[in-house]
Amino acid sequence: MQHVLFRSRIPYPLWHEAVSSAPVVARLGHRELHRLRKLASLFLHEKAITGAGGLEVDDFMRVYIAAQACLLILNLDLDDFQGWSEVIVYPDTFVIKREEYDASGVVHETRKALAGEAWQRGPVILSWSDARPGSHPHGPASNVILHEFSHKLDMLNGAANGMPPLHRDMVREEWTASLSHAYENLYHQVERHHHTSIDPYAAENPAEFFAVLTEVFFVQPALLHRLYPKVYRQLSLFYRQDPLQYT
Ligand SMILES: [Zn+2]
Repeated sequence: MQHVLFRSRIPYPLWHEAVSSAPVVARLGHRELHRLRKLASLFLHEKAITGAGGLEVDDFMRVYIAAQACLLILNLDLDDFQGWSEVIVYPDTFVIKREEYDASGVVHETRKALAGEAWQRGPVILSWSDARPGSHPHGPASNVILHEFSHKLDMLNGAANGMPPLHRDMVREEWTASLSHAYENLYHQVERHHHTSIDPYAAENPAEFFAVLTEVFFVQPALLHRLYPKVYRQLSLFYRQDPLQYT
């Protein structure tokens, strides 16, 4: 690993530019930023970040994406992003066509405009207009990059279901109880059309709940801690970080 770092460490001016454009990373302490730069350099060595739909991906975009993706694994392991090798970036939201069978076996084609998507054992796909600096497509706590890469962690033990592999010092029942309780709570608010400070998309299913709450955990930790302190605690054990200390 050292020889990789020696050859391909992200140049400091570029690193500085990317970090200062990403508030969720810029607030880290000096030591954490140093570690994050190493991780992001290795990440970029392992993964190709390529443009699609006419978008040219430049070095700033690469480092900006890598820095935030690696924030998730700052105290975990680069191996947690194993088994896939590509990040594809579209200029804008992209349309995914899917064929779905209904109960009577008839195929329906559905089209969805997405800001991001993560495929199991496949690429992470992002829309640059939703991921770029200053963009909060789903409210002030939203961050498409953290969202999609957290799905990758969730997929480490199979299809995304809101239950990533927990660490040994974590208790599965506590994780499940805290997250299901909060999920039910948000689901009922959304169902009754109440305003929620958390993106209502979180109530879509447990996998989206984990991804959206990961965004809130890093971007607006105080909000998550106030609304669902037990979920904050579980995410803090999972990510081995305490973002509240930086606010
Ligand atoms: Zn998602």
